Amino acid sequence: MAPSLSPLRSHHVAVIGAGAAGLVAARELRREGHSVVVFERQKQVGGTWIYTDHVEPDPLSVDPTRPVVHSSVYATLRTNLPRECMGYIDFPFVARSGGDQRRFPSHGEVLAYLQEFAKEFKIEEVIRFETAVERVAPATEGGSGKWRVESTETEKRVRRDEVYDAVVVCNGHYIEPRLAEIPGISSWPGKEMHSHNYRTPEPFKDQVVVLIGNSASAVDISRDIAGHAKEVHVAGRSNPADTYIKQPGYINLWMHSMIERVNKDGSVVFQNGQTILVDVIMHCTGYKYHFPFLETNGSVTVDDNRVGPLYKHVFPPELAPWLSFIGIPWQVVPFPLFELQSKWIAGVLSGRIMLPSKDDMMEDIKSLYATLEAQGIQKRYTHRMGIAQFEYNDWVATQCGCPGTEEWRKEMYLTTGVRKRTTPETYRDEWEDHHLISQASQDFSLYTH
Ligand code: FAD
Repeated sequence: MAPSLSPLRSHHVAVIGAGAAGLVAARELRREGHSVVVFERQKQVGGTWIYTDHVEPDPLSVDPTRPVVHSSVYATLRTNLPRECMGYIDFPFVARSGGDQRRFPSHGEVLAYLQEFAKEFKIEEVIRFETAVERVAPATEGGSGKWRVESTETEKRVRRDEVYDAVVVCNGHYIEPRLAEIPGISSWPGKEMHSHNYRTPEPFKDQVVVLIGNSASAVDISRDIAGHAKEVHVAGRSNPADTYIKQPGYINLWMHSMIERVNKDGSVVFQNGQTILVDVIMHCTGYKYHFPFLETNGSVTVDDNRVGPLYKHVFPPELAPWLSFIGIPWQVVPFPLFELQSKWIAGVLSGRIMLPSKDDMMEDIKSLYATLEAQGIQKRYTHRMGIAQFEYNDWVATQCGCPGTEEWRKEMYLTTGVRKRTTPETYRDEWEDHHLISQASQDFSLYTH
């Protein structure tokens, strides 16, 4: 006689956010038999990929009472990953007729892809648009595991207070800016802003602009602005102190070491000894994790950008599996990682996949923290993955009983990373990894018809 399988449990799950993470979470939860409500405060799916020319009134985005503009995408933004590599595993990001056919397409093409995904899997029928989650807290003090979710439907001003079995947090982490600390900044007379509020280069015409950061946005925005500004200077904390390099191909773009201080007369002094009169300082210094709606009585905290404790960056042991997070890791290929994390959460909630005991999960987290400390890695890099993402993905995939990252995807990510660093001007339009594109297309034929 065949062994009897225990029936899978179906739960009522709230997903917060209908960006790339929330959409695939909703799909995987429903596939597993759960009932799902997705809360999305914007009018449409796509999260950060919904370009808007609106920016926040506070250019540094530090005022906690400011109206939040979710997207950080600027007008000319093209993806920094090739589309084959970037898409979900079983819903390839292939060129559409009438769309942007480029391999590194514009933000509008990514949005169209996410809209297609939502349509294909009928996700919109479970999304409550223009509905902001304001509070998520344990439903009872005794700890039944259930969650109270308070939300407001903005247009109709309808407030709801509901109870869910589980909550999956997919609210994105590119809205709450981090800023560089600059000695003398309080009396510096120029304008400061964060890249979150950058859209187009025209307002910088004839200005002298300093961008702070070594990230993809500093690289791209500095080049975007250089066509209009008088001078563009990029200050990077990780650059050696004597860095002062004119960028080849530009007459007005320089790389510097970090800013040493700024002065009342409007000047900026770099560690390399250069002093320049500057109109605008733009912080391209990244973002902080921020969960303003979440009340966990201290079970989950954000400390120096470490969200914790989280088992494998997803489950807080104390509240698992009833609270989970998708998309915490960074320096990754996000969509496939979201997809695997979603499968894992869906399977754990149904009882198909087992989590270790609370104590064992805590031990695992402590061991990660100890390893980071031993390697001299600061807390704020806890969720940075880079090359380690593939081992992580494979581990999650093994839990789910599905294949891990394809070899071609790994190689494409690594090759693109090298080209991005060595040829930032051309890597989106010139490449040599044609063999990897063919391997990807072969895999895609399983899913496209
Ligand atoms: P988001 O897209 O931010 O979605 C979160 C959603 O949650 C939003 O729709 C928001 O409205 C909603 N939300 C938040 N709070 C609430 C609340 N309280 N109530 C209700 N709804 C709420 N990735 C790539 O793969 N390739 C790239 O080239 C690339 N370039 C990028 C460039 C920039 C400038 C940025 C900022 C990111 C880039 N990324 C890129 C990473 C990108 O963030 C991810 O691809 C992905 O879109 C993140 O999806 P998400 O669902 O986690 O978050």
